[in-house]
Amino acid sequence: MLELRPNCECCNKDLPPDSAEAMICTFECTFCRECVERKLDFVCPNCGGNFVERPVRLSASLAKYPASAKRVYKPEGCAA
Ligand SMILES: [Zn+2]
Ligand SMILES: [Zn+2]
Repeated sequence: MLELRPNCECCNKDLPPDSAEAMICTFECTFCRECVERKLDFVCPNCGGNFVERPVRLSASLAKYPASAKRVYKPEGCAA
């Protein structure tokens, strides 16, 4: 199951579970679409993998399977 991390690792932007701009790699490193396109050039700075759009979890499922509240913020990994 996806953790659904709450923010972008590069710019710390909030990415709620229903966000349409959350992108993840296979390890679920999580970024906003703008950072993926403009800063990362579609390559994960942590693992070198590519990104896909993160699926949305609906609120009925969120009640049962809550999203992660643990923020991961590693701006040093992101080329400016
Ligand atoms: Zn970002
Ligand atoms: Zn990664």
